Amino acid sequence: MDHFLYKDGVLHAEDVPLPQIAAEVGTPFYVYSCATLTRHFHLFEEALTGLDHLVCYAMKANSNQAVIAHLAGLGAGMDVVSGGEYLRAKAAGVPGERIVFSGVGKTRDEMRMALTGGIRQFNVESEPELTALSEVASSLGLTAPITVRVNPDVDARTHEKIATGKSENKFGIPIARAPEVYAMAASLPGIEVIGIDVHIGSQLTDLEPFRLAYEKVRDLTLRLRTEGHDIRRLDLGGGLGIPYERSNTAPPLPTEYGALIREVVGDLGVEVEIEPGRLIAGNAGLLVASVLYVKEGEGRDFLILDAAMNDLIRPAMYGAWHDIVPVVEPAPGLEQRPYDIVGPVCESGDTFAKQRQMPTISPGNLVAFRSAGAYGAVMSSEYNTRPLIPEVLVKDDQMAVIRARPTFDEIINRDTVPAWV
Ligand SMILES: *Cc1c(COP(=O)(O)O)cnc(C)c1O
Repeated sequence: MDHFLYKDGVLHAEDVPLPQIAAEVGTPFYVYSCATLTRHFHLFEEALTGLDHLVCYAMKANSNQAVIAHLAGLGAGMDVVSGGEYLRAKAAGVPGERIVFSGVGKTRDEMRMALTGGIRQFNVESEPELTALSEVASSLGLTAPITVRVNPDVDARTHEKIATGKSENKFGIPIARAPEVYAMAASLPGIEVIGIDVHIGSQLTDLEPFRLAYEKVRDLTLRLRTEGHDIRRLDLGGGLGIPYERSNTAPPLPTEYGALIREVVGDLGVEVEIEPGRLIAGNAGLLVASVLYVKEGEGRDFLILDAAMNDLIRPAMYGAWHDIVPVVEPAPGLEQRPYDIVGPVCESGDTFAKQRQMPTISPGNLVAFRSAGAYGAVMSSEYNTRPLIPEVLVKDDQMAVIRARPTFDEIINRDTVPAWV
């Protein structure tokens, strides 16, 4: 459920009509709903009630500081995957003890930054990383709380580019080697073992892979405890999928996911952490674009938008589906026709949808991409020297620009031309 509904025939973000936002900031733009972010965060909170837990929002899904600050205000921790995200979380007011540092290639500078600024835990992904962290922490006279991210060799049954839990993926250490790595961790100065971490992928539409992975983590918890490790926190990752295509069957709900967690690890006496990103932010955002031209091709009509693959890369990168709807509600029973919906960028990959059934659309009409709040703005680029598009946050009838569109001067002046050119 989200808070983007038609009222009087016009699509709104909460109580703000989208054409009003378009008039103020121009198109294309992203718009996010506070009420939807809140609702999704609370779904996870409720799903884990009764368990000692912390929901650490995976910031990489949408790291605008206004979004982070809103979620942190509700009690969310943050899962960060770079020094930049760590600094953004701090800038948004998130205390270090609520920030988890994930990622397969943390640099020593990033480790230093997090150790001195405060950190809840590092999720370590390899032995060399463990050694580096031990050296950095020791040199600072500090101790790094850690989990080791294990790779359970489970097929998440999702898009190959976002599956992370198979043995051929770069993530984590093979779960069979975990006892060795924990023994090594326990022997290193500046390292304190506190738990285990696992994250098998994103946009999972089935609970079974989670069950397989969490059962392996449960077994490992029991084994590591017999070997003398104090395993008191399990970070179970993120990855629960969202319904991108409303006509399809919906993925499992957070309550069902929570019930699974309770069932598999609820009796271990551990603190549970989860790191959802997409499910919190995905359906809390729209991308709104204008139709520039309707072009008749050979046997097909192209809807040419002012948004492009640089603004929302998911269709080009993952073949992802987004529901695309007219901002002015079509009259009931209006005839639909197929369009290829494309952007202005100079490659054929810049296609959002092929032969998509839409009511008849005219130049100047606004269209909205649903489910664009996660992995949308954060993955955008200035390819074709197209400025990053504005982000707008709405709460009830209030709206604010939370990232402005840069000017062409700002973009062009970032380059420097050496005198010898
Ligand atoms: C990407 C990622 C997440 C979030 O995944 P979602 O599918 O957005 O919930 C959580 N943890 C880690 C380590 C990640 O890399």
